[in-house]
Amino acid sequence: MADRKQNNNRRNNRNNGDEDFSPRFRKVRKKVCPLCANKDLKLDYKNGDQLRKFVSDKGKILPRRATGACAKHQRDITLAVKRARHIAVLPFTQN
Ligand SMILES: [Zn+2]
Repeated sequence: MADRKQNNNRRNNRNNGDEDFSPRFRKVRKKVCPLCANKDLKLDYKNGDQLRKFVSDKGKILPRRATGACAKHQRDITLAVKRARHIAVLPFTQN
């Protein structure tokens, strides 16, 4: 019991030191947010081609793990896609 607790602590400490370290899963390369990386890139809900990168082929908004966007920009993306759908620039659904 005591031994196991100690082991857990040691593993947690090691995880804290290295964000990319995940022994149970494949090595994950840290994605960089496309909107943070390119400061000139402005999301525009009237620009369908730009927003199409952030929706699946079914028209669904891709999750952060797929877009690589940070929390702030993922919210912006979501808002822009929803606005674009409302003005029929993007589809609500495909098929
Ligand atoms: Zn960002």
